[in-house]
Amino acid sequence: MRAVAIDGPAGAGKSTIARRTALEFGFIYVDTGALYRTVAYAVSKNNIETNDVEKIEKLLSEIKIELKFINGEQRVFLNDVDVSDEIRSPEVSMKASEVSSITQVRQYLFSLQKDIAKNNDVIMDGRDIGTVVLPNADVKIYLTATSQDRAKRRYDQLLSQGMSVDFDNLVKEIEQRDYSDMNREISPLRKADDAILVDTTGNTLEESISLLTEIIRTNLK
Ligand code: C5P
Repeated sequence: MRAVAIDGPAGAGKSTIARRTALEFGFIYVDTGALYRTVAYAVSKNNIETNDVEKIEKLLSEIKIELKFINGEQRVFLNDVDVSDEIRSPEVSMKASEVSSITQVRQYLFSLQKDIAKNNDVIMDGRDIGTVVLPNADVKIYLTATSQDRAKRRYDQLLSQGMSVDFDNLVKEIEQRDYSDMNREISPLRKADDAILVDTTGNTLEESISLLTEIIRTNLK
């Protein structure tokens, strides 16, 4: 099986770009952030604080999280219920970043991610795919852009989904998430030594998609 790992900070356009390039190569696109979001969503639904490791560990033993690929589109299920849309709110984003620093949460999701890559050609995006989950990926990309640029994209995306948000708040949240993702003890966000650095600041979406498609084509043997 072949694998492309795409890591980078929140809002760098990873998911949109990876989804489109996956179509190009006939790979499955796996958005691993959805898994962390689903844990956060379950934690919140059960009124558990994100720092209550004991309760979260117990919760993990009781819930079932599955990724399903319907017409090539990833959907995430919590206890057989499709929660793919519910997990996209800014509140869940912040909580996902918080629970993602818990070792037990990362371990719980690790095997799920590994299994998918064992059985499918994948383009997998996340924070630790090239460093931890798929260290032997055929191509590794570290996708980034300035926090202002990333916040603007999130802003437009949320607006188009009918959610109204404050732009300055979004910049703050993105920077806060960057900080906690890059500074957590376990699997912090960092560029793998052998990852190709791609900065999409100022690019249009189409420019970034062509650039990534080209890089993947060149590096995929
Ligand atoms: O990519 P997305 O913004 O949906 O991810 C939500 C949160 O999940 C991130 O801020 C990060 O803390 C966490 N995450 C992670 N490792 C991954 C994917 C996401 O820690 N591979």
